[in-house]
Amino acid sequence: MKPTPMMAQYLEIKSQHDDCILFFRLGDFYEMFYDDAVTAARELEITLTRRDKKNPIPMCGVPYHSAKGYIEKLIDKGYKVAICEQMENPREVKGMVKREVVQIITPGTVMDGSLDESSNNYLMAILKDRDYHIAYADISTGELKVTTCTEEILLNELASIKPSEIILREPLTEELLMKVNQITTVVSVHAAEGTVPEQAAGLTPLAQEVTALLFDYVTETQKRDLTHIEQAAIYQAIDYMRLDLYAKRNLELTESIRLKTKKGTLLSIFNETKTPMGHRLQKEWIERPLINETAITHRHEQVELLNDRFIERDALREHLAEVYDIERLVGRVSFGNANAKDLIQLKYSVEQLPKINQVLQLIGLEQIDDRQVEGLNQMLDALEEEAPISIKDGGIFKTGYHEELDEYRDASKNGKQWLSQMQQAERERTGVRSLKVAFNKVFGYYIEISKANLHQFNADEFGYMRKQTLTNAERFITEDLKEKEALILGAEEKMIDLEYQLFIELREQVKAYTVELKRIARRIAELDCLQNFSQVAMKNDYVRPTFNKRKLQLTDSRHPVVEKVMSKEEYVPNDCHLDDDQYIDLITGPNMSGKSTYMRQVALISIMAQMGSFVPCAAAEMPIFDQIFTRIGAADDLVSGQSTFMVEMLEARNALKNATADSLIIFDEIGRGTSTYDGLSLAQAMIEYVHDHIKAKTLFSTHYHELVQLEDTLPALENIHVAAKEYNGELIFLHKIMPGAVENSYGIHVARLADLPAEVISRASAILDQFEKTESNVQPVKTEQVREPQMSFDLFGSSVEEELKQLDIARMTPIEALLKLQALQDQLK
Ligand code: ADP
Ligand code: MG
Repeated sequence: MKPTPMMAQYLEIKSQHDDCILFFRLGDFYEMFYDDAVTAARELEITLTRRDKKNPIPMCGVPYHSAKGYIEKLIDKGYKVAICEQMENPREVKGMVKREVVQIITPGTVMDGSLDESSNNYLMAILKDRDYHIAYADISTGELKVTTCTEEILLNELASIKPSEIILREPLTEELLMKVNQITTVVSVHAAEGTVPEQAAGLTPLAQEVTALLFDYVTETQKRDLTHIEQAAIYQAIDYMRLDLYAKRNLELTESIRLKTKKGTLLSIFNETKTPMGHRLQKEWIERPLINETAITHRHEQVELLNDRFIERDALREHLAEVYDIERLVGRVSFGNANAKDLIQLKYSVEQLPKINQVLQLIGLEQIDDRQVEGLNQMLDALEEEAPISIKDGGIFKTGYHEELDEYRDASKNGKQWLSQMQQAERERTGVRSLKVAFNKVFGYYIEISKANLHQFNADEFGYMRKQTLTNAERFITEDLKEKEALILGAEEKMIDLEYQLFIELREQVKAYTVELKRIARRIAELDCLQNFSQVAMKNDYVRPTFNKRKLQLTDSRHPVVEKVMSKEEYVPNDCHLDDDQYIDLITGPNMSGKSTYMRQVALISIMAQMGSFVPCAAAEMPIFDQIFTRIGAADDLVSGQSTFMVEMLEARNALKNATADSLIIFDEIGRGTSTYDGLSLAQAMIEYVHDHIKAKTLFSTHYHELVQLEDTLPALENIHVAAKEYNGELIFLHKIMPGAVENSYGIHVARLADLPAEVISRASAILDQFEKTESNVQPVKTEQVREPQMSFDLFGSSVEEELKQLDIARMTPIEALLKLQALQDQLK
């Protein structure tokens, strides 16, 4: 069937924007058709209809005036929306109205409303030659950064930056795309070359090219100029501690593994920032711990000064709380969409600077250089404190700012006064006591007389002309009133126009302060993070760490997050000691005793120290780690489509390939995802490899008791264990790290704690007894196998058929499946 002319126009425009949901303007609605309609109806929970009966094209629509909320919802869900407007007034043209896409809103380019102030919204362009060249910007703050890296570092960077949208010139390989998609799903291919923007001056040709790609995409979608984006800052990933995707995720730095929220993360501990800029920078500091000792020490020194002067620190916190989001305010000023309220917030913020400087001086911290913005405050003082949000309704400037404006205001005000005098005079002249002079938008000024008074009233006698008849009143106009009306309304209109003009001028002048304001915003953000460190350190009893290349010596260390969910007495502090001669700790201990907590705690403390914070210890002496690697059982690997065991091996590979003697490795129960023999052999081989070749500081927890014998052959390895006690047949966790290996793995005790059926527990104890009696001819490995709950299926005595039915194949690794199959077969033999 041939499409109607309008549908032909729709299809033509849609074909140029096929990766967007097209909002097609039809009168007072934006309509969506075909797949767009199906998607939008589902995501926005609006009704899906048909264009007409004969023509079953799916469609849905949202009213023009409430479209904003719907668009934000789609963007939040990772869609891109193209706004197609009518370019002509339908009443003035014959035939088809011209339509054009005027803006494309994408997750990386939103400027207003839905932006979360606690995080940056980054848009990133990636180009590949031998290496990857990346440029990323937050359009709302104007920040722009570029770097070059390998594929592996690219993934780490993505995990830190978490861009909400990625732009490429050519599609990524399937394999890389899968990895990238774990971080962001909005990947746009943008084929244009783009011209090199000023902001990329002086960069290498490829860095310029990728910045050009980024800018071209923004100009294309936003159709606005980008002068507010700052000069590109070049950085090297190597200047920061290297944390790969897995380490970031496993250590729950800014996002929890399971719920993907802030709760339970390291970031959640540092929740004392007072400004949005500080909050965003805090997140960056956690994602990017430093490796330069001078830089780290500089942060520690400032925190110490703040700790010493807590009264001044409190004052500083109060002043910071009065500072608004300068970065984004400045972004809006440059982008040309700041209103009077924004400028007033900017004024309040700048007004805090002298007060902040005063406290900084008392504390002994470097003050903020605000000399360049002194004029700004005076300039912004012209604004009325209660200015409206719209800049098109007047009421923006204070009296005395502009002479002509004051004159219009007087004219309008005097006119109003004159009107109330007129009301009094007319009442007396006509004898109608209830006569009113009033105004409405449609009819302008009028004199109103109620019906009750009309019968005795002769309009002509007083020169009244009828204007409008209501049910219970009549409205009139006089020559005098007409004249005054023209004067008052004229003045008001001129006043509003003039205020608008003056505001635009003022905003342009403020724009000149962009660079200075950004520098100030940056320093405020830093101060905010430092006072946050100080506040958190005081509140939680942290100490300043010192650095020592050769050893890691933590005294009474605690897990910063876990200790917060317990009372202070409950959390058991532990020591940690590793040095150049003894750099591997092999940790044993029953399930639930605290192995994982202990290992994470050491990693988190290292990260805290290197980001400039104090640490949850009684004393801490530590090396500066170049990288931290983790292998910690993650719960959600199934979601990413990789088997748990595969992820485990990928994480291990990352560590073994990249770690150096200056790194920290956390291996938590390596080998769990496969059969006992496989796992045990892999674990032992890895330990030996780290011991002989890498020599990284390593914490290795294991449930393979066989491994404790490695202490005899590997001189740099030491056994430690988490103590637990058996008391009246119950297991008591002491959570205390002790030298040596654990003797009993207490698996059945833990099973009892988990409230397994009593029959299972007693049967398991009996079987275990059997094994222990015949220990001499049973391999310890096999004992382990029986103790593993997931391997103990044959203890339940259920039929093979029943077992098969119960299998959750999607959740098994191939090796688990094979083992299971073998076990089932054994039962039938
Ligand atoms: P494992 O890895 O040995 O199975 P976890 O590290 O997961 O044990 O710890 C189990 C639980 O024990 C934690 O959720 C925590 O509540 C508690 N825990 C761990 N370490 C400590 C400690 N040092 N002090 C107090 N409670 C602890
Ligand atoms: Mg554990």
